Amino acid sequence: MNGPAPLAARIAELIAVQGPISVAQYMTLALHDAQSGYYATRDPLGADFITAPEISQMFGEMLGLWCVQVWEDQGRPQNLRLVELGPGRGTLMADMLRAMKQAPDMKVDVVMVEASPVLQAIQRRTLRDSGASIVWKTHFDEELADRPLLLVANEFFDALPIRQYAKTQRGWCERMVVEKDSALSFALAPSALPPSAIPPERAAAPDGGIYETSPASTALAEEIARIVAVKGGGALILDYGYSGPGGFGETLQAVKANAFADVLADPGSHDLSAHVDFAAMAEAGRRGGAIVHGPRGQGEFLVRLGLARRAEQLMKANPAKAKSIYAALERLIHPAQMGTLFKALAFLPPPAGPAPGF
Ligand code: SAH
Repeated sequence: MNGPAPLAARIAELIAVQGPISVAQYMTLALHDAQSGYYATRDPLGADFITAPEISQMFGEMLGLWCVQVWEDQGRPQNLRLVELGPGRGTLMADMLRAMKQAPDMKVDVVMVEASPVLQAIQRRTLRDSGASIVWKTHFDEELADRPLLLVANEFFDALPIRQYAKTQRGWCERMVVEKDSALSFALAPSALPPSAIPPERAAAPDGGIYETSPASTALAEEIARIVAVKGGGALILDYGYSGPGGFGETLQAVKANAFADVLADPGSHDLSAHVDFAAMAEAGRRGGAIVHGPRGQGEFLVRLGLARRAEQLMKANPAKAKSIYAALERLIHPAQMGTLFKALAFLPPPAGPAPGF
């Protein structure tokens, strides 16, 4: 057979040379390896999982109105940059830009931050006729620090790498990926972390308890908050996750075809994600100097922005589609569906003022 060896074999080779790798490094390879990484090679939306913007246009419309409101509240700043992190198929941006036409004086330059060439190509197609000025970047960096920033990220942070630590008799040890009997498996690092490296609220964990942390997420959140605090604008982060200290279990999960899969089996073939630690993200926002609002359940957040009214309007205009519009509304806001597990968190510049939806 020609072509690259399966990603699992290449990761095993890397481990043979380098030694055990962290869960974070494993996630990065499984999701972004240029030849076989999950996001690098496919469009997962619909086939493996579905997201709020793909459920209904109303989601993006509400986020577009959020941006307009923030812009109005701050005295209509010029020179705005509108950034989306991990824009999937571009659906959310298309719906936001359409809703933002209600404010014709609001001019934005759009930046799409997308690592996957496959998804970038789909986004270009989706936004071809949007009339907006749009550029693409593979990652967020300091080039985006010089102007007021409006930023949205839906189901982006759950895809960023996490590290895991397990409580053992000898202390908190990092969970690593090793090769054993020609398969990838988990093993704990032999030496423990200094106890000060673990947050105090974790101390009560039972043996076997897991602490997850995403330094990539909190570092990025802090950088975004700093730009918003200094230059103005606002950031809106939506994702699934927990807002308290969480439990002591792990949340890393693999998903393929809308079902759970084995995290270590056949890397690159399934999505990997973990619950977002909203308390840690909020803390990062404050460290960056922003005023932090939320987390608030996605259902409440969207209803406060006018989602129910918008659904009614759409149902009246398209009676034949009323049932599916209502079903989408329910899916986005019902507590048993995406209404409470999914949460919204906003960073706004000081001084503290109104925050639409919170
Ligand atoms: N926001 C979209 C897609 C969510 S899926 C929606 O709601 O439908 C996650 C998205 O983040 C994908 O577009 C994926 O390619 C992108 N992504 C994941 N990790 C990334 C990273 N480290 N840098 C840039 N983009 C990333």
